[in-house]
Amino acid sequence: MNTKRAPSLIAALAVTALLTACGTPEPARPVVVQGAMDVETRGLAGAIEHPVEETIGGWTFWRGTIDGYPVVISKTLKGMANAAAATALVAERFHPAAIINQGTAGGHTPELHVFDIVLGTESVNLGSFKTGYRPRGGGSHYEEWSPLDLMRGEGSAGQDPAARTMRRYAGDDGLLSAARTVRDRYRTGHVVDGVIGSSDVWNSEIDRIARFHDQYGTTAEEMETASAAQIAGLFHIPFLGIRVVSNNITNGDTYDAKVGEACQAYVREVVKAYIRKVKR
Ligand code: SAH
Repeated sequence: MNTKRAPSLIAALAVTALLTACGTPEPARPVVVQGAMDVETRGLAGAIEHPVEETIGGWTFWRGTIDGYPVVISKTLKGMANAAAATALVAERFHPAAIINQGTAGGHTPELHVFDIVLGTESVNLGSFKTGYRPRGGGSHYEEWSPLDLMRGEGSAGQDPAARTMRRYAGDDGLLSAARTVRDRYRTGHVVDGVIGSSDVWNSEIDRIARFHDQYGTTAEEMETASAAQIAGLFHIPFLGIRVVSNNITNGDTYDAKVGEACQAYVREVVKAYIRKVKR
């Protein structure tokens, strides 16, 4: 044995013994940011430090850091099923500290304009209903539909009167407060609290939108947040939906894809604020 090396070898063994005794330090759990489309993820994926792209099935993830803290940017693809699957994958694969689902949305109230951002204090599934009975030729009347909570109990939701309620997924307080602290940094629109309604339907019927707004308090609609929130909840992962208005049929604001980039820049500030809190 080279005796000159012995002291450093002993030191290395001592450090190893110490680490084993104390338990190896856990790597910090990442903050995950989800977006459905390229225009909703490209900016963030391009802005993280040391990005490593990974594909699992049809889903793309970019691992990296923001201010030295681990993050994962996840392209969920569009719609409720894709967003749910991407959330389960990210939960299992990366064990996140928190998940933010962000991207574009349609306004449900005329005060809200393109480029305004909604912080989802709650999200609801606008695709889960039991219709009223109508005989052949009786048509379809959404006014008779009652919400269906598919997370309530294991019995038949359709037969259980107690399941006829709208389940509301609450946004995480820690993420919400991080988002509120950087609200003023967003200059291209207002940042407001609101309720995000999700389903695989793009609603353009004003009466139906008004009903969602009146009955369930929806501020904006899109196709991912409530499903990602549901899955994050089952994994006990803090979750928040952040949505930028890209169109609003209730006031005639037409679709603008540029909002996706603005939202990502704001969400990057939210992540930085959250990381500062976690590090403290
Ligand atoms: N206009 C887009 C297509 C978006 S499809 C294009 O040409 O590529 C729907 C996606 O946009 C979903 O991911 C959904 O979350 C979001 N979205 C934006 N506005 C919406 C609205 N008014 N209703 C439903 N989804 C909306």
